[in-house]
Amino acid sequence: MKIALFGPPGAGKGTQARFIEDEFGIPQISTGDLLREHVRKDTPLGREAKRYMDRGDLVPDELVIDILKERISRDDCVKGFILDGFPRSLEQAKALSDAVDLDAVINIVVDENLLVRRITGRRMCSCGATYHVEFDPPSREGICDRCGGKLYQRDDDREETVIKRLEVYRKQTEPLTEHYRKLGILHDVDGSRPIEEISKDIISLLKKLGE
Ligand code: ADP
Ligand code: ADP
Ligand code: ZN
Repeated sequence: MKIALFGPPGAGKGTQARFIEDEFGIPQISTGDLLREHVRKDTPLGREAKRYMDRGDLVPDELVIDILKERISRDDCVKGFILDGFPRSLEQAKALSDAVDLDAVINIVVDENLLVRRITGRRMCSCGATYHVEFDPPSREGICDRCGGKLYQRDDDREETVIKRLEVYRKQTEPLTEHYRKLGILHDVDGSRPIEEISKDIISLLKKLGE
């Protein structure tokens, strides 16, 4: 099963990807995580990408497309994968459709005024787990439940950058919903509800599609 999670920053793509991964045994592929890994290792690509990420802009298509293609060609993707944060432009959607056919695009729809609060309260662990200081806190403050690691706040999760990222989403990424709706594979899910309610809906939807 090849699916993409779609929605603005803070919609809950990473959070929901975890549940799908556990249920169906296919890996989450987050271009944001892959890019942050390059930044952390200070590779030439990471240095280039960081300039855009810090401003809240999209990283140039050719860089992201290369990373994505390499990642989906690995062995753990033979049964499928969950794309999180890709595609984000028409150019990326075209490159993706040249490589694979998606079975479903899940569009997580969230009221705009909830997003800033979700993103500014987000805390991350280097193991990939995501928390929220208010909505999804770890059992011990600042410590990851999964691995015991120390939680941190992403540089680009500050309010000024968040507002820019939401604008970039509306201009460059949101128009893609129409593209996938025309293909008949877009499924809207109400993402303003509690985390577990949303994941139940997504999983039953995907099971139905798989029948
Ligand atoms: P995205 O990957 O779409 O940017 P995340 O999954 O990282 O979004 O979620 C953004 C923040 O909001 C995180 O701190 C997460 O814990 C929290 N969150 C995710 N889904 C919900 C929800 N349904 N209700 C409240 N908070 C949520
Ligand atoms: P969020 O879901 O909160 O927007 P991500 O982790 O998906 O965060 O992305 C963080 C940043 O990484 C983006 O603001 C952008 O600069 C870059 N990025 C991630 N995925 C892509 C992509 N597919 N195309 C271009 N830039 C990307
Ligand atoms: Zn962790």
